Amino acid sequence: MSTQAATGDTAVVIGLEVHVQLETDTKIFCGCSTEPADDEAPNTRTCPTCLGLPGALPVLNEAAVEAAVKIGKALDAHIPETTTFHRKNYYYPDLPKNFQLTQYDAPICADGELEVRVDGDRRTIGITRAHLEEDPGSIQHAGGSIESATHTLVNYNRAGTPLMEVVTEPDFRSPAETRAFLAKLEEVLEYLGVFDPTRDGSLRVDANVSLVDADEMAADGSVSDAVLADANRVEVKNISSHRGAEQALAYEVTRQRNQLRRGRGIDQETRHWDEGRNVTVAMRSKEAEKDYRYFREADLPALEVADWKARIPIPELPDARRERFRGAYGLDAEAASKLTSTKAVADFFEDVAGEFDPELAATWVADNLLGELNYRDMGITDVTDRLDEFTRLIELVDAGELTVKNAEEVVLREMLDAGDDPHAVIEREGLGKAEADEVETAVDAAIEGNPEAVSDYHDGDEGAINFLVGRVMQETGGSADPGQVNGLLRERLDG
Ligand code: ADP
Ligand code: MG
Ligand code: ZN
Repeated sequence: MSTQAATGDTAVVIGLEVHVQLETDTKIFCGCSTEPADDEAPNTRTCPTCLGLPGALPVLNEAAVEAAVKIGKALDAHIPETTTFHRKNYYYPDLPKNFQLTQYDAPICADGELEVRVDGDRRTIGITRAHLEEDPGSIQHAGGSIESATHTLVNYNRAGTPLMEVVTEPDFRSPAETRAFLAKLEEVLEYLGVFDPTRDGSLRVDANVSLVDADEMAADGSVSDAVLADANRVEVKNISSHRGAEQALAYEVTRQRNQLRRGRGIDQETRHWDEGRNVTVAMRSKEAEKDYRYFREADLPALEVADWKARIPIPELPDARRERFRGAYGLDAEAASKLTSTKAVADFFEDVAGEFDPELAATWVADNLLGELNYRDMGITDVTDRLDEFTRLIELVDAGELTVKNAEEVVLREMLDAGDDPHAVIEREGLGKAEADEVETAVDAAIEGNPEAVSDYHDGDEGAINFLVGRVMQETGGSADPGQVNGLLRERLDG
């Protein structure tokens, strides 16, 4: 508290605790599905283990551990020889066992880092640890908020969903940096295939924020452990998006600065981010770790993970892929960034680039396809199994059988709206370039039917050829190639 700036400039210190739901088929300690069924009834996707019934035993899900190891590798973290689980004891209705199975002194990942870019600057954020745990059930206060509810309902369908809690060092110096970090973390998790950002509540953030005297911060932005420990920090809970993190923290920094300006101290407390009102609200004074009485879960043996790191591969990560795309395909920074925004987009692009000139592939995927998908609120995963149709479309343009304009403005759009393959659209809309003999017949007819234009042409009137081209185009319904028609006419007339 002594370092809390009462007057003068303050600097912002933030550390995050990020909970991500891991994308596994079944829950972390039982065989129940993690996938909510449409309109599922409460408390149906459950079993004795995730309901915490007496005598039910946990069995660790290998897929959850594999996902954790992948995350550890991507965050350049230390993965220990053995990892263990602990009971974190607390009483709350969403936790039927009255303890949460989590990791304590031997987390699966420790000492990692993640590099983010904020306004062109590179910042390395330290990862203190990342551990596995089970998600509690969910609580619904009937009739609104906790204050006005007449009763509260609890649903254990979510209970036991595998979570990875990623805890950062207090390395953030602004709310904007946390937003960049969360976006980057999500991008990496999506590349690893361990996370589904579209799932409701798949990312939940607790943000710790304190103000320190600006003089206590070194030129490189570092702050001593003593100063960090001394600062009164507020933990903001209930943040569920990148934007939410930035907004909640911006609000909290202003609130704390105002407190200091008014000569009031800052209470070490837990606050709740109210998304609707855009304010943080005091919840409770913060509990300490010792309140949880952690002890080893005797029903889960220590897990030897020493060789998992070598055994489990991870794909090329977004930053590396971006760099490679620039070098290998000669893309500029913007195109490389667009084409690596998700692993699915990058894979799709590389499949297309394997068949065409990379520049042509980049234009089609980054500009045309992503643009049209975005406009329709669709994503690349909606069309990944239509890669063949998409390459056929580019082939048709490349071979001169379809004009670029028709391909972009009619065929691609119809492919997405009606779900048809390019040939079906071309046939229906009559867009195919006319067959060669149809064009020749039209050329002959234009010459026979317009003797005046023919003699004008022979007298040196260049305008006459354009008139004849126009006749042929009209005859073929615009599907002939004007350059080709021009050549054919000259051949006939000059020959
Ligand atoms: P607790 O035991 O209270 O959960 P931890 O040491 O586990 O505390 O840290 C929780 C989070 O608080 C971490 O993300 C850490 O970076 C962050 N943190 C620690 N000190 C500060 C501080 N002075 N200001 C802001 N965040 C901090
Ligand atoms: Mg903590
Ligand atoms: Zn279960």
